[in-house]
Amino acid sequence: MMLRPRIKPEHSGYRTVSGTVRLGSVIYGIGVEIDDPSGWVWTLVQAMDGGRTPDELGRLVAATHPEVTATEVVQAITDLQAAGHLEDTGAPAPELSANERERYSRGVPLLRWLDRSPRPSAWELQELLRAARMLLVGLGGTGGYAAQALVASGVGHLHCVDPDTVELSNLNRQPLYREQDLGRPKVEAALRDLRARNSAVRVTGERRRVGGPAELAELLGSGEGRYDVLLVCADQPPEIRRWANRVCLATGTPWVDAGYHGPLVTAGVHVPGEGACWECLRAGEVERRDLGLAPGQDEEAASPRMPWNPVTAVTAGLSGLLIAHAALALVTGAPPMEPGFRYGINLAALDDTVRQRFPRRPDCPACGTPQEERPDSAAGAAARSDGAGR
Ligand SMILES: [Zn+2]
Repeated sequence: MMLRPRIKPEHSGYRTVSGTVRLGSVIYGIGVEIDDPSGWVWTLVQAMDGGRTPDELGRLVAATHPEVTATEVVQAITDLQAAGHLEDTGAPAPELSANERERYSRGVPLLRWLDRSPRPSAWELQELLRAARMLLVGLGGTGGYAAQALVASGVGHLHCVDPDTVELSNLNRQPLYREQDLGRPKVEAALRDLRARNSAVRVTGERRRVGGPAELAELLGSGEGRYDVLLVCADQPPEIRRWANRVCLATGTPWVDAGYHGPLVTAGVHVPGEGACWECLRAGEVERRDLGLAPGQDEEAASPRMPWNPVTAVTAGLSGLLIAHAALALVTGAPPMEPGFRYGINLAALDDTVRQRFPRRPDCPACGTPQEERPDSAAGAAARSDGAGR
């Protein structure tokens, strides 16, 4: 039970002309509308300013609204708490420095807004971020925007992996690099940029090409040292998502990926054992698209892969921020996500809601087979990674 509950400021309510009480700022997915014919809910909402205990609130509301008992009022407070609309002004202060509280004083309120789990203080969400360790593969456009967002948000440790050097054709979209970095290893320039953004975050990196699932597993670490989340932001090698899927299934590691196919920008959220795996999703999407290809005809015929990858700072930025959002949400639960789906945006048609969710497939070669058979190299699988891009 909360000590002194109050409505989260971002969920502040109002009373409609028809007498219902709305909380959550009328944002779809968060907002609720509560019937309140006699007006006691509105009295309660107004009285819940963080200065009263639930028992005091119960007595106060019952005294002015005889149709409700103090016990029923306390139950209503419990229900509002369970739905994520309350915080506790009596909760102990979070273990964050004054500097951290100032730095994250705009981000935590948004997390508080998005969070729908009962939690005394939203600062717990920042503590979860500070404890998180993430592995990011691919420091191109997607990875660059993602890394900047994660470091700015205050994750505890970010380890970055990329084999390349900075080229002139990178500079239209890759935010970590400047003209003076041309020819330098990306990792080197990236660490400079990222460390300068937030010295409280541990940012490490290595110049390395991921050559197969075993190398990815090695990067991911084991035991206590294992990363909490893997972010696949690379489009090379082409099989990297399949490798990530197999390795993460074998180790139980949550992972996210993002990229673009022209104007279509998507990110995927994958947690072993929860919903469809990346390969289930991919197979489901291939079936859904019904490309009208002849049996055995290469999918490339419908969606050719160019030697250059058409991309702007806009598509790379959206891709990077979608994957960062997915990683942050997996760690904090704000907002809660049900894994096993892709989401995104189609810049060619903004009314085209991109949300791919398919059931797990019993015949899936990755998650439908015994553990002993994983991981495999999937060599020659021609994993034309939808959602690839850097
Ligand atoms: Zn699967």
